[in-house]
Amino acid sequence: MYNNIIENNLLLLGRLQGIGSRSSRRILFDLMKKKEGLLKPLITSLQELYESIAPCEECFNLDTSNPCHICSNPKREKNIICIVEDISSLWAIERASEKTNSYNGLYFVLGGTLSAMKGATPETLKIPKLMDKITNQEINEVILATSATSEGRITADYISGLIPDNIKVSTLAQGIPMGGEIDYLDEITLSTAINLRTNR
Ligand SMILES: [Zn+2]
Repeated sequence: MYNNIIENNLLLLGRLQGIGSRSSRRILFDLMKKKEGLLKPLITSLQELYESIAPCEECFNLDTSNPCHICSNPKREKNIICIVEDISSLWAIERASEKTNSYNGLYFVLGGTLSAMKGATPETLKIPKLMDKITNQEINEVILATSATSEGRITADYISGLIPDNIKVSTLAQGIPMGGEIDYLDEITLSTAINLRTNR
């Protein structure tokens, strides 16, 4: 129906999370219609992103600087760390905190949950590196903000079991729906869950 160039762009857009074939057609046609006003600056901007993006060596956030803008910010509290499954959770907490000031500490991005089926082990989730960070950087509170799925809970329990008793360990307060992923929560619910976090 389409030529190869158009077809290829549709296929690539369709691989984006949450974009089905109908949305990818809409996006591509819109970009084609706005060739100079949108397509061209988008290409330039994506090229810049491609050239500068890197995982933060401290927390594994993705950013255009390494360490990321959170780890290198002197105003962040350096003795509290929030452990999340993925970058979308980090962004969700940051977005909620911008409005409500609910969190100003550091993060650690696991990149998934423990899962034998997916081959996700403590090593692939960089948990040994996390433990080094917790013991060597005078962390005094760890917030476990994995999602409310069974895998998220198993991962949180595993990490909690490794943390020495003198360090406070908290989890997000109730109110997160079972199976809920953090980046689907509205900002008020998420801020409340952080503010009312409970200790182990
Ligand atoms: Zn970082």
